[in-house]
Amino acid sequence: MKIRGLRIVITGAAGFLGSHLVDRFLAEGYRVIGVDNFVTGRKENLAHLEGNRFFSFVEYDVSLPLYFADDLDGVLHFASPASPADYLDLPIQTLKVGSLGTHNMLGLAKAKGARFLLASTSEVYGDPQEHPQPETYWGHVNPVGPRGVYDEAKRFAEAMTMAYQRTHGTRTRIARIFNTYGPRMRPADGRVVSNFIVQALQGKPITVYGDGSQTRSFCFVDDLVEGLYRLYRSDHPGPVNLGNPDEFTIQELARTVIEETGSTSKIERRPLPEDDPQVRCPDISRARSALSWEPGVSLREGLRRTIPHFRRLVEEGEAQARNLS
Ligand code: NAD
Ligand code: UDP
Repeated sequence: MKIRGLRIVITGAAGFLGSHLVDRFLAEGYRVIGVDNFVTGRKENLAHLEGNRFFSFVEYDVSLPLYFADDLDGVLHFASPASPADYLDLPIQTLKVGSLGTHNMLGLAKAKGARFLLASTSEVYGDPQEHPQPETYWGHVNPVGPRGVYDEAKRFAEAMTMAYQRTHGTRTRIARIFNTYGPRMRPADGRVVSNFIVQALQGKPITVYGDGSQTRSFCFVDDLVEGLYRLYRSDHPGPVNLGNPDEFTIQELARTVIEETGSTSKIERRPLPEDDPQVRCPDISRARSALSWEPGVSLREGLRRTIPHFRRLVEEGEAQARNLS
């Protein structure tokens, strides 16, 4: 299929994942329209695209309807606060962009006969009782807990996506993304990898929540973007788990970050946030068979590629880690 000239919309384009996705689709020959309201995004993430005639940008809140005159090949819906610190600060905006925003972007895709790709999340599994998590697991989510604003918005988004596929025949894909990290994360994003690296580089205490025995599986951004690109181009509707199945305790992550930064920081315990999942690890059998995809970057290698980004921001005096209160 000829790609050159095909036009796609990426919402959340000024964010961490969205901006990497913009770069990848431009490199593949697409024309990209980025949409973002900067609620958690940064202009700097797109600054290198200034003057690129294949990229345009619209500052807009996608919880409101959005129309384009141009033909579109696809709509990739990545707009949403994603860090627990962000979505706990922005609960209503998070529910709106996951529900109204997803509805609006599905409406746009339907009107254009375009593909639709939803950035869903491992959080649809909540605090999982099945481990690792396959796509067939329905999850264990507290709808009235603080994290419910994100988890339930994404679960609604998945249900709405399936309804458009079944009712209107919209060509949809659902990616369930597991913890991903890399350059362009905000120092004050509040997620664990950015917090630990910034704290380590500043010689401040590494804030481990709880006893640090909870696990996560960390995927480097380039691996994730490859999986997302393959999913977009495939005919697989998903949901498809995209993440790195190498699982670490948060205590192990803290030690690895200290080693890789050469830091003298000590580990400090903080209270475990409410409903913090005890384990998380993707079963990626479906991505392996449907997309021939699996991640290739180890945690240590990914940290080595990420630390220079934060080192630069720390040296420029821009960086501060952000903790949950
Ligand atoms: P991010 O906070 O860096 O990026 C989100 C972007 O969406 C920001 O630029 C923000 O300004 C924008 N946005 C939010 N609400 C908006 C609205 N109403 N209108 C327009 N723009 C809006 O987060 P991220 O890590 O890049 O996450 C991107 C997407 O991927 C999110 O949908 C998130 O749920 C999903 N995801 C990410 C991860 C991860 O580990 N990074 C894991 C699972 C799912
Ligand atoms: N965490 C931590 N210290 C921090 C930030 C997070 O110990 O400074 C823990 C958090 O409690 C969770 C894990 O790290 O168990 C991953 O948190 P993150 O906010 O990155 O994302 P989550 O996977 O919970 O959505």
